[in-house]
Amino acid sequence: MSAATITDGAGPSIWDAAHEVDARRPRSRQTQLGASDTVCGRRAAYLLHGVPPTDHPDKRAAILGTLIHNGLLESARTEYGWLVERSVRDDLIRGHVDVVQLDAATAARLPARHRPTVPADVLTVEDVKTKSTHLWNHVLRYGATAAELRQVHLYAAVLHEVGFQDIPGQRYLARLGPLDIGRIRFRFINRDSGAEHIQEIEFDPQRAAEAQWWVERVREIRDPEDMPRDFNGPGLDIICDYCPFRSRCWPGTAPGIPEQTALIRNDADREQALIEYVKGHELASQGDRIKKFARKKLDQAPPGIYGPNKLSWRGGNDEEKDDVEAMVDLHEIAGIPVPMRPDVDRMVKNLKAAGLPVPRRKTGKKTPAVINIAPA
Ligand code: SF4
Repeated sequence: MSAATITDGAGPSIWDAAHEVDARRPRSRQTQLGASDTVCGRRAAYLLHGVPPTDHPDKRAAILGTLIHNGLLESARTEYGWLVERSVRDDLIRGHVDVVQLDAATAARLPARHRPTVPADVLTVEDVKTKSTHLWNHVLRYGATAAELRQVHLYAAVLHEVGFQDIPGQRYLARLGPLDIGRIRFRFINRDSGAEHIQEIEFDPQRAAEAQWWVERVREIRDPEDMPRDFNGPGLDIICDYCPFRSRCWPGTAPGIPEQTALIRNDADREQALIEYVKGHELASQGDRIKKFARKKLDQAPPGIYGPNKLSWRGGNDEEKDDVEAMVDLHEIAGIPVPMRPDVDRMVKNLKAAGLPVPRRKTGKKTPAVINIAPA
């Protein structure tokens, strides 16, 4: 969808204004890498090389997330005195850390008017993420993704090695120098219900070094097309569907043909893809057997919380279906004509019973291609 939307006779959509504001945000124009740009190696390489975006995906969900994010952070700043959206920069990245909660010892080194209302027990770097409901169970079960962990470790690494950026408005923070980070916290907010979920991990300098190495690897690439893609492409990974470099990264071959076909150039590629397909099939069959066995065993289990999982049941109610006879009666009583539609199944049966051919015509569409793989 294009950024500009016109509503039915009621003037421009409010989203036009939101897109304009979003386009002016510094993050949308920078060509230097920010930690939030490190979600995919190929995308990071495009950004670093200043490649112009080829696509303009619908950004409404992302803008909503940003608005909620900014509102919550501003409340935390005014009510708790947390340090929010403070700038960091080193040789590898630049950006803004969502939240830094200083511990008492570090806070004591600041002028009194800058100290937080309640210091943290250990110096904590926090990342606030808004998520939609359909991702919420995944968040509760698995927590932050590898890309989210990388992003926050990059920020924590700058704070650990350099400290806050020395710029007007936060020079008093820069004077603290490198910080002794104790903890990393993710605060997930459900964009639909407002539910909040916290995930905390200890700051691990080794993990931070790995995140830095990831960025260094991207920076060393001369041609962004040489950087491996971290996702499987349009139609398979939603991040690619909404990526501003989608057409550049996955140019496609012809309309209606999956973009991923461009990855197959010769028989060796075909051989490898078939091996992957068979492997995936085996894993899915094995998973299906495990799931079905467990489902049978759980058939009489009452709802409740069992270790890391909550069990609940849906269904089990009397099934209902349309009562055609009662509908015909009601039509007759109300004087509404009963619709008479040819019954295709009945006609096919009649023709077959009478030994007559069943006429067929082409629809102009193609049947889906079904893959068939057998041992050679
Ligand atoms: S389309 Fe997908 S794989 Fe390509 S750069 Fe964007 S996110 Fe990465």
